[in-house]
Amino acid sequence: MKLLEERIRKDGVVKEGNVLKVDSFLNHRMDIELFSEMGKEFKRIFADKPINKILTIEASGIGIAVIAAQYFDNVPVVFAKKSQSINLDGSVYSTKIQSFTHGRVYDVIVSKKYLSPEDHVLVIDDFLANGCAIEGLISIIKESGATLEGVGIAIEKGFQDGGKKLRETGVNLHSLAIVESMDAATGEIIFREQ
Ligand code: 5GP
Repeated sequence: MKLLEERIRKDGVVKEGNVLKVDSFLNHRMDIELFSEMGKEFKRIFADKPINKILTIEASGIGIAVIAAQYFDNVPVVFAKKSQSINLDGSVYSTKIQSFTHGRVYDVIVSKKYLSPEDHVLVIDDFLANGCAIEGLISIIKESGATLEGVGIAIEKGFQDGGKKLRETGVNLHSLAIVESMDAATGEIIFREQ
């Protein structure tokens, strides 16, 4: 998606440690016009899928997922919560996710009330790096018996292996922008043609 690539080139900041900062339009201040264009693009990509729910993970996926949902007939958005303590009464699906940016392992939960076998789910998130966050969400979908229809990512870092792993397992994964390489010293960002 050219609009997103141009914005990343203009306002993205490449940090040491393979981190791309996009706080000025995506992760802190949110550009809603851009989010709307991203939502339309997700709809164009996944138009033939019978999606009736969007699943994301707090915090940065929520804004993108909520705007995107408006282009999917306002389907409900459920976000997985990062939780300190898993409640053991069986009312939640849970998994562990290793955070790329903080290095910690989180327990992540979704209430069983909000995901069930009739659901056809589109997973949306802001970044794809090593794939832990998306793998965690997919394991929650599997546990619930729902159908995974696709995964939509705003920015994939193609030089990390999350995208490759997921595509190899047959996941219907689409990223609006794929960073092929980025250089913290020069700030140069190269995108994959797609
Ligand atoms: P993964 O689980 O694929 O390794 O990492 C994905 C998660 O880590 C995303 O939900 C995102 O919040 C965060 N993340 C990974 N890489 C970056 C990055 O380069 N920049 C930012 N802002 N977040 C990232």
